Formats: sequence, structure tokens, C-alpha cells
Amino acid sequence: MSDFSSAGSVSSVALTPGADEFIVQLALERTLVAPAAVERARRQIAEHADLVTPAPRLLALLVADAGLDLRRVAEFLAADFGLPLAPDLGVVRVSGEVLGLVPREFAARYKILPFAQEGRVLKLAISDPIDTEAVDNLGHMLKLTIEPHVATADDIAAAIDRFYGKDAGSLDQLLSNLSAPGNGDSAVASTEASGLGNVSDTDADAPVVKLVHSIILEAIQRRASDIHMEPLEKRFRVRYRIDGVLLEVENPPKRLQLSIVSRLKIMANISIAEKRIPQDGRIQIMVNGRQLDLRVSSLPTAHGESIVMRILDKEGLQLGLPQLGFFSDDQKEMERLIAMPDGIVLVTGPTGSGKTTTLYSCLHHINKPDRKIITVEDPVEYQLNGINQVPVRADVGMTFASALRSMLRQAPNIVMIGEIRDLETAEIAINASLTGHMVFSTLHTNDAPSAVTRLIDIGVKPFLVSTSLRAVLAQRLVRKICPKCTQPYQPTAAELRSLNISPAMASAANFAKGTGCANCNGTGFRGRLVIVELFLINEDVQRLIYENTGSARLRDKARSFGMRTMREDGLRKVTAGLTTIDEVVSITVGDAS
Ligand SMILES: [Zn+2]
Repeated sequence: MSDFSSAGSVSSVALTPGADEFIVQLALERTLVAPAAVERARRQIAEHADLVTPAPRLLALLVADAGLDLRRVAEFLAADFGLPLAPDLGVVRVSGEVLGLVPREFAARYKILPFAQEGRVLKLAISDPIDTEAVDNLGHMLKLTIEPHVATADDIAAAIDRFYGKDAGSLDQLLSNLSAPGNGDSAVASTEASGLGNVSDTDADAPVVKLVHSIILEAIQRRASDIHMEPLEKRFRVRYRIDGVLLEVENPPKRLQLSIVSRLKIMANISIAEKRIPQDGRIQIMVNGRQLDLRVSSLPTAHGESIVMRILDKEGLQLGLPQLGFFSDDQKEMERLIAMPDGIVLVTGPTGSGKTTTLYSCLHHINKPDRKIITVEDPVEYQLNGINQVPVRADVGMTFASALRSMLRQAPNIVMIGEIRDLETAEIAINASLTGHMVFSTLHTNDAPSAVTRLIDIGVKPFLVSTSLRAVLAQRLVRKICPKCTQPYQPTAAELRSLNISPAMASAANFAKGTGCANCNGTGFRGRLVIVELFLINEDVQRLIYENTGSARLRDKARSFGMRTMREDGLRKVTAGLTTIDEVVSITVGDAS
């Protein structure tokens, strides 16, 4: 059905939308409106010569000038479609649980309102029984049977504002509702004062439920990768990590800390009573038709439990080396390596440097029906189609090592080990690679050549490293300049010096910078890309490894064969206008290059 409040687009000068027309016909048939009034309204629209302001909508005119009663229209609509009429949305009580099933944005867009749930049946107020696509989709998404009840679009819009708050997408709004002055300490009291009082009184936590939802929703809207809720002495800090950078957002009131943490623990299906030990759980939510997984961990701290939620957006996961930011030369080299029949390829970097995503992209690339791929991960981050992924479960004795041993009995061609942490895992990985498996794994080292010395340090024999290792890829993530507000930019002399950019290089470069826009929350960056250092193990390097040479000499050797450092790869991406000098310099601090 149409939107009565906004008067439509320029095209409505000549045409009234079909739904309006349908209702007008119905209103005429049932004598809810006089034909003369409709004629008058149509003339008024036709005579609307002003192209600047939009023409009034037929229904809006009939309501305003001819006293058309849309509630009566709704009654007839309900009767015609054999649907029940919604209860009076002005007095109905709706629990926070039920509201939580449908995001505000979805409810507002489709002019629907969930108002009750009985078992697997969700009762939904709808304004347009003709267009049932949104309703069908919603039922499918929630795996509930939807029972539509007819109401007017105006009543639904007013109820959405009342139940979800005027703009529940905004945390500020909810917070001002929750902490309106003079409300005392109880969330229930503030509910009544803020006009949200019609939520079911059996559900006194509804404001907290909504607050938690809105914190999560806002994080998702802002493309955060994780949400940190940290109890400090005097406040309950909330931070989002966006493109790798933590950003503090408005803190919920300290007094709600316990309720918020409890609510999250319930959602994550972990024990509320247990507050002394760290716990892990998972929340699955549906946002705008997309299923998102939140990995939740709780950690006792001096001022209460801290909650960190990692947002895993499977559909948003971009697999493919070019999508991650590999330039075509590095991509080709990686594809050559991962197509080898055996050997080990390691990806190194600190936590959060995108190692797993790179490995997933490699697996994705070689994931063909004739190959068997098994992974052992702690935990499994994303489910990949056609790949057998085994989670490590140390609590039941399923360690990396034991999982790996059983996995090799399943005769895979390609093996991915989440991380090599100890000698036992390293030895199994090497044995697997020497017996005809391609093995991928990660290590925590700063640069690529150090991976060799790390393996030897944990006890692997140098000759085993030299014969099994094919390559080491070190990587970092830098923020990508927002494509919507990118502008050519001339770096200062100091900036050029910080990356050793010569005047000749600078004159050929396309430096850019994001000025900040709505697309990037004003940061000038959106998304991230990898900068990489690919250390190929050739015969000369093998000899050095065999002789147990230190990483500095390995590095020199690799450089002499043309290994590009992360900083140099970053420089290529700076001069291509993809990222900034600052990003590359700050992320590669301490790189000897
Ligand atoms: Zn921008």
C-alpha cells in the first residue's frame, strides 16, 4: 500500500499508484466516498502544475478533504481477503521478544508490525493484503507461520514509532529514552516516562532487549567486525571495531550493565549464573534477510563481565585473492603455489591480519570436486561449501594434533591447519606434506623469513623445514580509501620521505585520500586490503635453511631474489590510490626495508 505521509515522486503527477487506485475503487463500491469527491481530487492532482513540489496523493486528498475513513477501508479489505482485522494498535501490548523478531527498518519499509506470537505462529499487522511478498519472506526467514491481520498503514506507522521508538536505529534515541531525567534507577520507570510503556508488563527488560538489539544493529550497519562491551569503574564502555580500528560509541548507562550482560548471555545460550570463568557462545540473528553469526565471549574483569562479540558475516565474506587486495603478480604466484601436489604454505601475521581469510580464499580457489579438502580449526569461523571442517575441542581431548591425525586417515589431498602452535602439530603438518598432501597453516610471526626460524625454534629439524616448506606469505591489512569520496591528493614532503618515495616515483603516482562521506562514516576509509610479502623457498634458500641460518640472512637472500616487502607492496597500493601513506607506515612500523 502507499505511503500516506510522503507525497510520492514526480511521476505521480500523472499517475496514482495502483494500490491507491485499488482502494479508491473499493471505497467507491462500498460507498465510503462519493464519486464527486473522487472526481474533485483527481482534478486537483491533474491541475497540479507545480513541478517542484510533488503532486498530492489521491488517497491522502480523500482522507483530508472527503473524510474517507481508512479504518473502514481496512475492514472491507480484511473481509474481501478473508483475513482477520488487527486489534487496535493504539492499545495493544507487544512484548520485546516479539518486536525483536522483526527489525524496525524491515517493519517500517513494509508497513508491518508483529504484535503477538503463539507457538510457531506470529501475528502480524499488515496494511496491504495484495502484496504479500514481504510477509512470505518474513515467515521463511523466521521459520514461523505468519498470520496476517489487516490494519491501516497510518496505524501501523504510528505503532512502529511507539514500539520501536521514533528512530530505534539510533542508539542516542534509545539512550535518551532510557536515561530520561527523573526516572529513578529502574528501567521500568524510565520505560513509562519515555512513552514506551505499552510493552508487555511481564517483560520489564524490554528496553534492555531493544538497547542490546540496537547496539548490535548499529554495529552491523557500520560494518563493525566486533563489538566490545567493557565494564570500567565508572562506566560501561562500548566500542566497535571498524576496518580494524576501535571506535568508542555512546556508552549505555552503567546501571544497565548487569542487565545488558545477562541479556547477551541469554542470547548466546551461556550460563548467566556463572560469572567467575570465561565462557563462549554464539548468537544467530537475521538482519535484513541476512543471517549473521555473532561469536560471543565473556570474561570476568575487576568491574564485571566484559563481553566481546565477533560478527561473522558469511555472505559478506569475500573470497578470492584479488578481492582481498592481492595484485595480479602476487595472485599468480600464490595460485601456482597452491596448485602444487604437496608441501607446506604458511601465512603469517599478528591476530586480525586476515590470515584465515587468505587461507579460505586459497582453499576456495582449489576447491574442485576431485579434491578432498579437510580443515582443522579453532574455532571454525566460516562454513565453506564442499570442505570438511573439523573444530578443535580441547575440552573433549580433540586437540589440533589429535584432530589432525584422524583427519589424515580420511585421505584428504589438501589440509588446512588453523595454526601451528607446538612441535607436535608442526611435525604432523610436515609429515603430511612429505606424504603427498598440500598443507596450509598460519604462524604468528612478524615477517615471512622469521617463520622458518620459528619452526626451528619450536623444535622442527632444519632439514625437514627446508624440504617441506614451499613458501611463506606475511600479510597485514590496511584500510582502503572510500571509493565514494576519494580525491586526488598531493602528499607532503615529510609523508613522501616516510615511505622513501622518490620525486620521480611521486610524479608518476596517483595519490588519493578520502574526504569523508556518509558511505564511510566520515572516516575516508571503507573496507581493507592486504599488503603482502611472499617468501618463496628456492634451492638457495633451502640450503640456507638446512644450514640453520638466521632470519636476517634468509631475508637478505630473499631480497636478492626480488622479494617485495610488505612496506613495498603497500607503497604500490599507495601510488595506485588504494590506500594512504599513513596507513602503510603505521601498519609496517619496525619493518626493516
Ligand atoms: Zn567516503
